[in-house]
Amino acid sequence: MSTLPLSGDKAVVPPSTAELLARLPPLPDLKRPLLRPDEVAKSIASGDDAYLEEMISGRFMDFMLRELLDHLPDVVQRITSLGPAGLVLQARPSNTINALAVPTRDGAVIVYNLGFYGAMYSFSRAVALTLEQHNAMQAMEWLSSVVDWATSRAKEPRIQQPLELGEESASLAANLSAQAQRFAMCHELGHVMTFRRAETAVRAATLAGVTVSALPDTWEKEYAADRDGLAMFLRVLASQGKSAAAALIGAEVFLNAAGMMHESSAEEEQAHPPPDDRLARVRNQFLQACGERGYELAGPSLAVRHILEALRGFVTQEVRRRRAETTRRLSEVFEAYTASVTQRSKDDMRAAAKHVSRFLLASPGATLDFLYERIFAPKVSDEPDGGSPARLLAINAALHFEKPLQEAIEIPRLQLHFEGQP
Ligand SMILES: [Zn+2]
Repeated sequence: MSTLPLSGDKAVVPPSTAELLARLPPLPDLKRPLLRPDEVAKSIASGDDAYLEEMISGRFMDFMLRELLDHLPDVVQRITSLGPAGLVLQARPSNTINALAVPTRDGAVIVYNLGFYGAMYSFSRAVALTLEQHNAMQAMEWLSSVVDWATSRAKEPRIQQPLELGEESASLAANLSAQAQRFAMCHELGHVMTFRRAETAVRAATLAGVTVSALPDTWEKEYAADRDGLAMFLRVLASQGKSAAAALIGAEVFLNAAGMMHESSAEEEQAHPPPDDRLARVRNQFLQACGERGYELAGPSLAVRHILEALRGFVTQEVRRRRAETTRRLSEVFEAYTASVTQRSKDDMRAAAKHVSRFLLASPGATLDFLYERIFAPKVSDEPDGGSPARLLAINAALHFEKPLQEAIEIPRLQLHFEGQP
């Protein structure tokens, strides 16, 4: 799925794969949720650099791609025909794309959103907790926090307090998430199969601040990539001697996760067909592909589907409720602060800013939006040079956040103007 808004119609020559990779910003520490200090230390001690290298390279999913390609010789052939750079997978943080297949002059690059893949894993854990441990309430509450973060202005995936899972539930969650990732990867491979060598890109797109070439997305292309991706996934499973059921489970988890994220995200872009529409088509294609055994093979996905849909409905409502409630309470705090007639001391400001910054825990999405709006509100005619009390309160609250969150609400840009303020 590529949910990247394209901008401009400027025709550009595609970069080579090396050029494109060099232009992608590096993955900072925070954006490597899989990089666990204890494991890094262990791997270095044992002389295993490969683990560390993989973790910092943004190529976490190479193993999965290799596994799929082992069973898809025609896809390998197409990739080889694109040029010597072949196909490169790169993880990046983003709050606008899930994944994007980009043609280069000498190959293709699939960029996938680390946060989205993290959210998909979280969704799988919540499903497993509901299915195996019957703790739907805890699962829903926890997932709501994950989704609020994942659809906020912050680009980086946040690690929530992990959901405690028993051994069986944990392995079910890992399995659900792996099938979803395979479906997503097959979908992107479906896009890659339509690339031609040295294809001239027709529009420029901005990806993580870098302008790259991209083919225009159409709903038809998305449907086609789902269809071709599903067919590939089924071929891989058949060739591995595994049940076809995994393909439909993967589609259910991936597309329900996409739907859940879409419903909680502020962006109302129509570049992509609604996930439910895609799911309906994929379910039909699955039944057709499996013939007589279709309904039987679709069985396991039904149990998962019911839980996914229930969780998704609850989470969408709950994220909206938390955001509305947090916005309301923040408005009250700001009103009370700006209305106080007495001279506000620096200590008052400090205390109020700290109080405001803590709303991040109640709803990161609403808090970051609220502060951004106050910080960049149009200047009123009688506003002092240093900024209105509300603007200063918002800035000071944001200064409590760690750097990537300050960047998410453009504090660094602002500080150029407000240098020297308390
Ligand atoms: Zn796509």
